[in-house]
Amino acid sequence: LLELKNIKKQFKNNHVLKGIDLSVEKGEVIAIIGPSGSGKTTLLRNINFLETADSGSMLFREQQIDLAKPTKKQILWARRHMAMVFQNYNLFKNKTALKNISEGLVFGQNKSKTEADELACQALDQVGLLGKKDFYPSQLSGGQQQRIGIARATVLNPDIVLFDEPTSALDPELVGTVLHDMKTLADKGQTMIVVTHQMSFARNVASRVAFFSDGEILEEGRSDEIFDHPQHERTQQFLSAIA
Ligand code: ATP
Repeated sequence: LLELKNIKKQFKNNHVLKGIDLSVEKGEVIAIIGPSGSGKTTLLRNINFLETADSGSMLFREQQIDLAKPTKKQILWARRHMAMVFQNYNLFKNKTALKNISEGLVFGQNKSKTEADELACQALDQVGLLGKKDFYPSQLSGGQQQRIGIARATVLNPDIVLFDEPTSALDPELVGTVLHDMKTLADKGQTMIVVTHQMSFARNVASRVAFFSDGEILEEGRSDEIFDHPQHERTQQFLSAIA
């Protein structure tokens, strides 16, 4: 479904991505783990064109895109099929929960307002937040905001959802609700790439884990292989430090 080749990105003389290759099959959940500052978030931002890579390519749904020189048309096309969930939710503050979810359906997918609102209500219902549909983000807890962020991404029926540390801004007792929604999505077969510090999620929900260190994927494999038999010394150190 998605094949990333040799993605490189530097900020001034800081080489943040040093040539990332990663392929993702339909239905896979890939967890990206690794130390702070190793480039995990930057990778997602480059795939979703929030930043432009210095070089590298992406084969997505059989379309080849040069990540260093994407056309506007390619960016819009890719974003129609790929949604992102952010660390700090990134909801529109001046829009209700319902409108946060329905806007993308109206503007991105040309649905009528009525149809978009209906789909948004269904999405809210699925995460148990229909009762909050007229609330603004500031009236919702971080966990509720993030669940709406996930509903907003998935209502568009994307081929892939990119999650950028979706639980790291949450109070510990709210993390579980968001992880629960993510697991439900994974069980439904949603393809996902998840940058996470939640090792239980990476171990139990992800089919594959990629360990990032210093701008490179040092090791990649089935989640049980990475957690039970890490090959690389750096992976071993990282996993034993957080165990
Ligand atoms: P964390 O787990 O702490 O979120 P990460 O692995 O996601 O870390 P990134 O956020 O991708 O790491 O950052 C990697 C490096 O790139 C850091 O050294 C960061 O300072 C640098 N960086 C990221 N974005 C920019 C930017 N827009 N301008 C300059 N440097 C940046």
